[in-house]
Amino acid sequence: MDFSFSEEQNLLRETFREFSARELGKEYVRWLDENRDFPPEDLLAKIGDLGFFGITIPEEYGGAGAGMIELCIALEELSAGSGAVALAAALAPAFGGRPIGELGTEEQKQEHLPQIARGEEKWCMALTEPAGGTDILGAISTTAVRKGGEYIVNGSKMFISGAHVADYILLIAITDREAKRSRGLSILLVDAQSPGITINLIRKLGVHACGAAEVHFEDVQVPARNLLGEENMGWYHLLGTLNPERVGVAAIMLGGARTAFADALEYSGQREAFGKPIGQFQIIQHYLADIAIEIENARNLVYKCAWLCDSGGRYDVEATMVKIVACRAVEKAALYGMEIFGGYGFTMEYDMQRHFRDYRQGMFSPISNEMSMNYIAQSFGLPKSY
Ligand SMILES: Cc1cc2nc3c(=O)[nH]c(=O)nc-3n(C[C@H](O)[C@H](O)[C@H](O)COP(=O)(O)OP(=O)(O)OC[C@H]3O[C@@H](n4cnc5c(N)ncnc54)[C@H](O)[C@@H]3O)c2cc1C
Repeated sequence: MDFSFSEEQNLLRETFREFSARELGKEYVRWLDENRDFPPEDLLAKIGDLGFFGITIPEEYGGAGAGMIELCIALEELSAGSGAVALAAALAPAFGGRPIGELGTEEQKQEHLPQIARGEEKWCMALTEPAGGTDILGAISTTAVRKGGEYIVNGSKMFISGAHVADYILLIAITDREAKRSRGLSILLVDAQSPGITINLIRKLGVHACGAAEVHFEDVQVPARNLLGEENMGWYHLLGTLNPERVGVAAIMLGGARTAFADALEYSGQREAFGKPIGQFQIIQHYLADIAIEIENARNLVYKCAWLCDSGGRYDVEATMVKIVACRAVEKAALYGMEIFGGYGFTMEYDMQRHFRDYRQGMFSPISNEMSMNYIAQSFGLPKSY
Protein backbone atom coordinates (compact mmCIF):
# COMPACT_ATOMS: atom_id res chain seq x y z
CA MET A 1 0.00 0.00 0.00
CA ASP A 2 1.41 3.38 -1.00
CA PHE A 3 -0.14 6.72 -0.03
CA SER A 4 2.44 8.86 -1.80
CA PHE A 5 1.84 10.95 -4.90
CA SER A 6 4.04 10.59 -7.96
CA GLU A 7 6.64 13.22 -8.87
CA GLU A 8 4.36 14.53 -11.63
CA GLN A 9 1.42 14.76 -9.24
CA ASN A 10 3.52 16.67 -6.69
CA LEU A 11 4.64 19.02 -9.44
CA LEU A 12 1.03 19.55 -10.51
CA ARG A 13 0.08 20.36 -6.91
CA GLU A 14 2.96 22.82 -6.62
CA THR A 15 1.93 24.51 -9.88
CA PHE A 16 -1.70 24.98 -8.80
CA ARG A 17 -0.69 25.94 -5.25
CA GLU A 18 1.59 28.69 -6.57
CA PHE A 19 -1.13 29.80 -8.97
CA SER A 20 -3.66 30.11 -6.15
CA ALA A 21 -1.22 32.03 -3.98
CA ARG A 22 -0.40 34.39 -6.85
CA GLU A 23 -3.73 34.85 -8.64
CA LEU A 24 -6.30 34.19 -5.94
CA GLY A 25 -5.13 36.51 -3.20
CA LYS A 26 -7.48 37.41 -0.36
CA GLU A 27 -8.38 40.89 -1.65
CA TYR A 28 -9.13 39.64 -5.14
CA VAL A 29 -11.26 36.73 -3.89
CA ARG A 30 -13.24 39.15 -1.72
CA TRP A 31 -13.79 41.31 -4.78
CA LEU A 32 -14.97 38.26 -6.75
CA ASP A 33 -17.40 37.34 -3.98
CA GLU A 34 -18.86 40.83 -3.89
CA ASN A 35 -18.92 41.63 -7.59
CA ARG A 36 -18.99 38.54 -9.77
CA ASP A 37 -21.42 35.75 -10.64
CA PHE A 38 -18.71 33.89 -12.59
CA PRO A 39 -14.91 34.25 -12.75
CA PRO A 40 -13.66 36.81 -15.30
CA GLU A 41 -12.44 35.53 -18.67
CA ASP A 42 -8.82 36.54 -18.05
CA LEU A 43 -8.71 34.47 -14.86
CA LEU A 44 -10.26 31.47 -16.64
CA ALA A 45 -7.71 31.89 -19.44
CA LYS A 46 -4.87 31.73 -16.91
CA ILE A 47 -6.38 28.58 -15.38
CA GLY A 48 -6.59 27.23 -18.94
CA ASP A 49 -2.91 28.01 -19.50
CA LEU A 50 -2.11 25.56 -16.68
CA GLY A 51 -3.91 22.86 -18.66
CA PHE A 52 -6.73 22.58 -16.13
CA PHE A 53 -9.62 22.13 -18.57
CA GLY A 54 -7.97 19.23 -20.36
CA ILE A 55 -6.63 17.32 -17.36
CA THR A 56 -8.98 14.35 -17.84
CA ILE A 57 -9.53 14.71 -21.59
CA PRO A 58 -7.69 12.05 -23.66
CA GLU A 59 -4.51 13.17 -25.40
CA GLU A 60 -5.91 12.50 -28.88
CA TYR A 61 -8.50 15.23 -28.21
CA GLY A 62 -5.99 17.76 -26.93
CA GLY A 63 -6.04 16.93 -23.23
CA ALA A 64 -3.48 15.52 -20.83
CA GLY A 65 -5.19 12.13 -20.53
CA ALA A 66 -4.68 12.19 -16.76
CA GLY A 67 -7.19 11.00 -14.19
CA MET A 68 -9.37 11.92 -11.26
CA ILE A 69 -6.40 12.08 -8.86
CA GLU A 70 -4.83 14.86 -10.94
CA LEU A 71 -8.18 16.65 -11.26
CA CYS A 72 -8.70 16.49 -7.47
CA ILE A 73 -5.20 17.85 -6.83
CA ALA A 74 -5.90 20.83 -9.10
CA LEU A 75 -9.37 21.39 -7.63
CA GLU A 76 -8.14 21.19 -4.04
CA GLU A 77 -5.42 23.76 -4.72
CA LEU A 78 -7.66 26.10 -6.71
CA SER A 79 -10.35 25.99 -4.05
CA ALA A 80 -7.81 26.74 -1.35
CA GLY A 81 -7.79 30.13 -3.12
CA SER A 82 -11.48 30.24 -4.04
CA GLY A 83 -14.04 27.44 -3.95
CA ALA A 84 -16.29 29.42 -6.28
CA VAL A 85 -13.53 29.70 -8.89
CA ALA A 86 -12.71 26.00 -8.58
CA LEU A 87 -16.37 25.05 -8.98
CA ALA A 88 -16.86 27.35 -11.96
CA ALA A 89 -13.73 25.99 -13.65
CA ALA A 90 -14.81 22.39 -12.99
CA LEU A 91 -18.15 22.67 -14.80
CA ALA A 92 -16.90 22.17 -18.37
CA PRO A 93 -14.64 19.16 -17.63
CA ALA A 94 -17.32 17.60 -15.40
CA PHE A 95 -20.45 18.17 -17.48
CA GLY A 96 -18.95 18.38 -20.97
CA GLY A 97 -15.61 16.57 -20.98
CA ARG A 98 -16.38 13.51 -18.89
CA PRO A 99 -19.83 12.58 -20.24
CA ILE A 100 -18.88 13.20 -23.87
CA GLY A 101 -15.60 11.35 -23.37
CA GLU A 102 -17.46 8.34 -21.97
CA LEU A 103 -20.64 8.33 -24.05
CA GLY A 104 -20.09 10.52 -27.09
CA THR A 105 -19.92 9.53 -30.73
CA GLU A 106 -16.64 10.23 -32.53
CA GLU A 107 -18.30 13.27 -34.13
CA GLN A 108 -19.41 14.63 -30.73
CA LYS A 109 -15.94 14.07 -29.29
CA GLN A 110 -14.28 15.87 -32.22
CA GLU A 111 -16.78 18.71 -31.95
CA HIS A 112 -16.41 19.37 -28.22
CA LEU A 113 -13.44 17.77 -26.47
CA PRO A 114 -10.63 19.85 -28.04
CA GLN A 115 -12.59 23.05 -27.34
CA ILE A 116 -13.24 22.04 -23.74
CA ALA A 117 -9.56 21.15 -23.27
CA ARG A 118 -8.61 24.62 -24.53
CA GLY A 119 -11.13 26.27 -22.20
CA GLU A 120 -13.19 27.56 -25.13
CA GLU A 121 -16.52 25.97 -24.22
CA LYS A 122 -18.46 26.48 -21.01
CA TRP A 123 -20.88 23.81 -19.86
CA CYS A 124 -23.51 23.28 -17.22
CA MET A 125 -25.70 20.33 -16.29
CA ALA A 126 -29.46 20.77 -16.05
CA LEU A 127 -30.96 17.94 -14.03
CA THR A 128 -32.74 19.47 -11.00
CA GLU A 129 -36.27 20.80 -11.51
CA PRO A 130 -38.36 23.28 -9.51
CA ALA A 131 -40.47 20.40 -8.10
CA GLY A 132 -37.42 18.77 -6.50
CA GLY A 133 -33.83 17.66 -6.81
CA THR A 134 -33.66 14.76 -4.37
CA ASP A 135 -36.55 12.77 -5.85
CA ILE A 136 -35.55 13.72 -9.37
CA LEU A 137 -37.29 10.74 -10.99
CA GLY A 138 -40.53 11.77 -9.28
CA ALA A 139 -40.10 15.48 -9.94
CA ILE A 140 -38.82 15.61 -13.50
CA SER A 141 -41.29 16.90 -16.07
CA THR A 142 -39.11 18.46 -18.78
CA THR A 143 -39.80 16.66 -22.04
CA ALA A 144 -37.87 16.19 -25.27
CA VAL A 145 -40.26 14.98 -27.95
CA ARG A 146 -38.72 13.58 -31.11
CA LYS A 147 -40.09 15.14 -34.32
CA GLY A 148 -38.19 14.10 -37.43
CA GLY A 149 -34.57 15.11 -37.09
CA GLU A 150 -35.10 17.09 -33.87
CA TYR A 151 -36.16 16.94 -30.27
CA ILE A 152 -38.54 19.66 -29.08
CA VAL A 153 -37.77 20.52 -25.47
CA ASN A 154 -40.24 22.04 -23.01
CA GLY A 155 -39.88 22.48 -19.26
CA SER A 156 -37.89 24.20 -16.51
CA LYS A 157 -34.74 23.46 -14.59
CA MET A 158 -33.68 24.93 -11.25
CA PHE A 159 -30.36 25.85 -9.57
CA ILE A 160 -28.21 25.22 -12.62
CA SER A 161 -24.64 26.26 -11.84
CA GLY A 162 -23.05 28.28 -14.60
CA ALA A 163 -26.12 28.20 -16.89
CA HIS A 164 -26.01 32.00 -17.26
CA VAL A 165 -22.60 31.83 -18.99
CA ALA A 166 -22.76 28.35 -20.55
CA ASP A 167 -22.26 27.67 -24.25
CA TYR A 168 -23.82 24.22 -23.85
CA ILE A 169 -26.26 22.57 -21.49
CA LEU A 170 -26.08 18.88 -20.64
CA LEU A 171 -29.84 18.41 -20.40
CA ILE A 172 -31.68 15.49 -18.85
CA ALA A 173 -35.26 15.21 -20.14
CA ILE A 174 -38.08 12.72 -20.53
CA THR A 175 -38.05 11.10 -23.97
CA ASP A 176 -40.52 8.29 -23.22
CA ARG A 177 -43.48 9.37 -21.13
CA GLU A 178 -45.02 5.89 -21.03
CA ALA A 179 -41.97 4.01 -19.73
CA LYS A 180 -40.94 3.63 -16.10
CA ARG A 181 -39.25 6.99 -15.42
CA SER A 182 -35.72 5.57 -15.03
CA ARG A 183 -36.11 3.97 -18.47
CA GLY A 184 -37.54 7.03 -20.19
CA LEU A 185 -34.87 9.72 -19.75
CA SER A 186 -32.25 10.87 -22.23
CA ILE A 187 -29.27 13.21 -22.23
CA LEU A 188 -29.12 15.96 -24.84
CA LEU A 189 -26.30 18.37 -25.67
CA VAL A 190 -28.13 21.66 -26.02
CA ASP A 191 -26.69 24.84 -27.51
CA ALA A 192 -27.43 27.40 -24.77
CA GLN A 193 -28.05 30.11 -27.39
CA SER A 194 -30.96 28.16 -28.96
CA PRO A 195 -34.16 30.17 -29.40
CA GLY A 196 -36.71 29.41 -26.66
CA ILE A 197 -34.22 29.24 -23.77
CA THR A 198 -34.49 31.83 -21.01
CA ILE A 199 -32.14 31.96 -18.06
CA ASN A 200 -32.61 33.84 -14.78
CA LEU A 201 -29.84 34.06 -12.23
CA ILE A 202 -30.84 33.17 -8.66
CA ARG A 203 -29.65 35.30 -5.74
CA LYS A 204 -27.99 33.05 -3.21
CA LEU A 205 -26.20 33.04 0.13
CA GLY A 206 -22.71 32.00 -0.91
CA VAL A 207 -20.39 30.74 -3.66
CA HIS A 208 -21.29 34.00 -5.39
CA ALA A 209 -18.61 33.80 -8.06
CA CYS A 210 -20.21 30.64 -9.44
CA GLY A 211 -23.83 31.64 -9.97
CA ALA A 212 -26.79 29.29 -10.39
CA ALA A 213 -29.83 29.94 -12.55
CA GLU A 214 -33.33 28.87 -13.49
CA VAL A 215 -33.49 27.68 -17.07
CA HIS A 216 -36.74 27.61 -19.05
CA PHE A 217 -37.18 25.74 -22.32
CA GLU A 218 -40.04 26.63 -24.63
CA ASP A 219 -40.25 24.65 -27.85
CA VAL A 220 -36.46 24.51 -28.05
CA GLN A 221 -35.27 22.62 -31.12
CA VAL A 222 -32.33 20.29 -30.51
CA PRO A 223 -30.88 18.30 -33.45
CA ALA A 224 -31.35 14.55 -32.89
CA ARG A 225 -27.62 14.05 -33.46
CA ASN A 226 -27.11 15.86 -30.12
CA LEU A 227 -28.47 12.88 -28.22
CA LEU A 228 -25.69 11.66 -25.89
CA GLY A 229 -25.54 7.91 -25.48
CA GLU A 230 -28.58 5.74 -25.99
CA GLU A 231 -32.11 7.14 -26.08
CA ASN A 232 -34.05 6.45 -22.86
CA MET A 233 -30.93 5.22 -21.07
CA GLY A 234 -30.01 8.69 -19.76
CA TRP A 235 -30.58 7.84 -16.10
CA TYR A 236 -28.13 4.95 -16.22
CA HIS A 237 -25.65 6.98 -18.27
CA LEU A 238 -25.87 9.79 -15.75
CA LEU A 239 -24.81 7.60 -12.87
CA GLY A 240 -21.30 7.55 -14.40
CA THR A 241 -21.16 11.35 -14.08
CA LEU A 242 -22.57 11.58 -10.56
CA ASN A 243 -19.80 9.69 -8.73
CA PRO A 244 -16.88 11.76 -10.10
CA GLU A 245 -18.99 14.88 -9.48
CA ARG A 246 -19.31 13.98 -5.78
CA VAL A 247 -15.58 13.33 -5.48
CA GLY A 248 -14.73 16.57 -7.30
CA VAL A 249 -17.05 18.58 -5.05
CA ALA A 250 -15.45 16.90 -2.02
CA ALA A 251 -11.99 17.98 -3.28
CA ILE A 252 -13.33 21.54 -3.57
CA MET A 253 -14.67 21.40 -0.01
CA LEU A 254 -11.34 20.01 1.18
CA GLY A 255 -9.53 23.07 -0.23
CA GLY A 256 -12.09 25.36 1.42
CA ALA A 257 -11.65 23.60 4.77
CA ARG A 258 -7.88 24.01 4.54
CA THR A 259 -8.17 27.76 4.03
CA ALA A 260 -10.72 28.26 6.82
CA PHE A 261 -8.38 26.28 9.08
CA ALA A 262 -5.34 28.34 8.04
CA ASP A 263 -7.26 31.60 8.69
CA ALA A 264 -8.38 30.35 12.12
CA LEU A 265 -4.89 29.16 13.03
CA GLU A 266 -3.34 32.48 12.03
CA TYR A 267 -5.92 34.48 13.98
CA SER A 268 -5.48 32.33 17.07
CA GLY A 269 -1.82 33.35 17.12
CA GLN A 270 -2.58 37.06 16.70
CA ARG A 271 -5.60 37.76 18.87
CA GLU A 272 -4.93 38.18 22.55
CA ALA A 273 -7.12 37.79 25.61
CA PHE A 274 -6.06 37.79 29.24
CA GLY A 275 -2.60 38.82 28.08
CA LYS A 276 -2.06 35.72 25.92
CA PRO A 277 -2.72 34.72 22.32
CA ILE A 278 -6.09 32.90 22.31
CA GLY A 279 -4.29 29.96 20.67
CA GLN A 280 -2.83 29.26 24.09
CA PHE A 281 -6.25 28.34 25.48
CA GLN A 282 -6.90 24.64 25.45
CA ILE A 283 -10.37 24.89 23.96
CA ILE A 284 -9.11 26.90 20.98
CA GLN A 285 -6.32 24.35 20.48
CA HIS A 286 -8.91 21.57 20.58
CA TYR A 287 -11.11 23.36 18.04
CA LEU A 288 -8.10 23.55 15.74
CA ALA A 289 -7.10 19.95 16.39
CA ASP A 290 -10.65 18.82 15.65
CA ILE A 291 -10.68 20.67 12.32
CA ALA A 292 -7.28 19.19 11.41
CA ILE A 293 -8.57 15.65 12.09
CA GLU A 294 -11.59 16.19 9.83
CA ILE A 295 -9.39 17.63 7.08
CA GLU A 296 -7.05 14.64 7.23
CA ASN A 297 -10.02 12.29 7.07
CA ALA A 298 -11.46 14.12 4.10
CA ARG A 299 -8.10 14.19 2.30
CA ASN A 300 -7.65 10.45 2.70
CA LEU A 301 -11.10 9.61 1.40
CA VAL A 302 -10.99 12.14 -1.47
CA TYR A 303 -7.82 10.59 -2.87
CA LYS A 304 -8.95 7.05 -2.17
CA CYS A 305 -12.12 7.76 -4.16
CA ALA A 306 -10.12 9.43 -6.94
CA TRP A 307 -7.89 6.36 -7.08
CA LEU A 308 -10.93 4.05 -7.16
CA CYS A 309 -12.40 6.15 -9.97
CA ASP A 310 -9.17 5.93 -11.97
CA SER A 311 -8.81 2.20 -11.27
CA GLY A 312 -12.21 1.54 -12.82
CA GLY A 313 -13.69 -0.25 -9.82
CA ARG A 314 -17.05 0.37 -8.18
CA TYR A 315 -16.98 3.25 -5.69
CA ASP A 316 -20.51 4.62 -5.53
CA VAL A 317 -20.78 4.17 -1.74
CA GLU A 318 -17.35 5.71 -1.09
CA ALA A 319 -18.16 8.59 -3.46
CA THR A 320 -21.32 9.25 -1.46
CA MET A 321 -19.45 8.98 1.84
CA VAL A 322 -16.70 11.37 0.77
CA LYS A 323 -19.20 14.10 0.03
CA ILE A 324 -20.38 13.88 3.64
CA VAL A 325 -16.89 13.56 5.12
CA ALA A 326 -15.68 16.63 3.19
CA CYS A 327 -18.85 18.52 4.17
CA ARG A 328 -18.10 17.75 7.82
CA ALA A 329 -14.53 18.98 7.45
CA VAL A 330 -15.49 22.29 5.90
CA GLU A 331 -18.47 22.69 8.23
CA LYS A 332 -16.27 22.16 11.28
CA ALA A 333 -13.61 24.51 9.91
CA ALA A 334 -16.20 27.23 9.30
CA LEU A 335 -18.17 26.78 12.55
CA TYR A 336 -15.14 26.54 14.83
CA GLY A 337 -13.49 29.23 12.73
CA MET A 338 -16.41 31.53 13.58
CA GLU A 339 -15.94 30.70 17.29
CA ILE A 340 -12.24 31.45 17.13
CA PHE A 341 -12.83 34.81 15.43
CA GLY A 342 -15.37 35.82 18.09
CA GLY A 343 -17.29 38.96 17.10
CA TYR A 344 -14.93 39.62 14.19
CA GLY A 345 -16.08 36.41 12.53
CA PHE A 346 -19.49 38.03 12.22
CA THR A 347 -18.16 41.08 10.40
CA MET A 348 -17.63 41.39 6.67
CA GLU A 349 -14.03 42.47 7.24
CA TYR A 350 -12.73 38.94 7.63
CA ASP A 351 -13.13 35.97 5.30
CA MET A 352 -14.53 33.60 7.91
CA GLN A 353 -18.08 34.81 7.14
CA ARG A 354 -17.50 33.82 3.51
CA HIS A 355 -16.23 30.36 4.44
CA PHE A 356 -19.32 30.09 6.65
CA ARG A 357 -21.68 31.10 3.80
CA ASP A 358 -19.91 29.10 1.11
CA TYR A 359 -19.76 25.76 2.88
CA ARG A 360 -23.56 25.54 3.01
CA GLN A 361 -23.81 24.90 -0.72
CA GLY A 362 -22.01 21.58 -0.40
CA MET A 363 -24.57 20.33 2.15
CA PHE A 364 -27.18 19.72 -0.54
CA SER A 365 -25.38 20.00 -3.85
CA PRO A 366 -24.84 17.85 -5.85
CA ILE A 367 -26.77 15.56 -3.46
CA SER A 368 -28.17 16.34 -0.03
CA ASN A 369 -26.47 14.84 3.00
CA GLU A 370 -29.79 13.24 4.04
CA MET A 371 -30.13 11.46 0.70
CA SER A 372 -26.46 10.47 0.84
CA MET A 373 -27.09 8.83 4.22
CA ASN A 374 -30.08 6.95 2.76
CA TYR A 375 -27.88 5.63 -0.04
CA ILE A 376 -25.12 4.53 2.33
CA ALA A 377 -27.60 2.82 4.67
CA GLN A 378 -29.19 0.96 1.76
CA SER A 379 -25.78 -0.33 0.76
CA PHE A 380 -25.79 -2.51 3.92
CA GLY A 381 -29.03 -4.09 2.71
CA LEU A 382 -31.29 -1.97 4.93
CA PRO A 383 -34.74 -1.33 3.45
CA LYS A 384 -35.40 1.89 1.53
CA SER A 385 -36.80 4.40 4.04
CA TYR A 386 -38.73 6.45 1.47
C1 LIG B 1 -26.36 26.74 -5.48
C2 LIG B 1 -26.84 25.47 -6.07
C3 LIG B 1 -26.21 24.95 -7.18
C4 LIG B 1 -26.71 23.79 -7.78
N1 LIG B 1 -26.18 23.35 -8.98
C5 LIG B 1 -26.85 22.40 -9.69
C6 LIG B 1 -26.49 22.09 -11.04
O1 LIG B 1 -25.52 22.63 -11.59
N2 LIG B 1 -27.24 21.20 -11.73
C7 LIG B 1 -28.33 20.58 -11.18
O2 LIG B 1 -28.97 19.79 -11.87
N3 LIG B 1 -28.68 20.82 -9.90
C8 LIG B 1 -27.99 21.74 -9.14
N4 LIG B 1 -28.36 22.02 -7.86
C9 LIG B 1 -29.52 21.35 -7.29
C10 LIG B 1 -29.18 20.43 -6.12
O3 LIG B 1 -28.64 19.24 -6.61
C11 LIG B 1 -30.50 20.23 -5.34
O4 LIG B 1 -30.74 21.44 -4.63
C12 LIG B 1 -30.46 19.07 -4.43
O5 LIG B 1 -30.47 17.88 -5.17
C13 LIG B 1 -31.65 19.06 -3.46
O6 LIG B 1 -32.86 19.25 -4.15
P1 LIG B 1 -33.92 20.35 -3.63
O7 LIG B 1 -33.18 21.61 -3.38
O8 LIG B 1 -35.04 20.39 -4.59
O9 LIG B 1 -34.41 19.83 -2.23
P2 LIG B 1 -35.59 18.73 -1.96
O10 LIG B 1 -35.41 17.58 -2.87
O11 LIG B 1 -36.89 19.46 -2.00
O12 LIG B 1 -35.26 18.31 -0.48
C14 LIG B 1 -35.58 19.15 0.66
C15 LIG B 1 -35.07 18.47 1.93
O13 LIG B 1 -35.72 17.19 2.09
C16 LIG B 1 -34.72 16.18 2.24
N5 LIG B 1 -35.20 14.93 1.64
C17 LIG B 1 -35.83 14.74 0.46
N6 LIG B 1 -36.06 13.44 0.26
C18 LIG B 1 -35.60 12.78 1.36
C19 LIG B 1 -35.55 11.42 1.76
N7 LIG B 1 -36.01 10.44 1.00
N8 LIG B 1 -34.98 11.12 2.95
C20 LIG B 1 -34.47 12.10 3.75
N9 LIG B 1 -34.49 13.41 3.42
C21 LIG B 1 -35.04 13.74 2.24
C22 LIG B 1 -33.51 16.71 1.49
O14 LIG B 1 -32.32 16.07 1.91
C23 LIG B 1 -33.55 18.19 1.89
O15 LIG B 1 -33.02 18.34 3.18
C24 LIG B 1 -27.82 23.12 -7.20
C25 LIG B 1 -28.40 23.64 -6.04
C26 LIG B 1 -27.95 24.81 -5.50
C27 LIG B 1 -28.72 25.40 -4.34
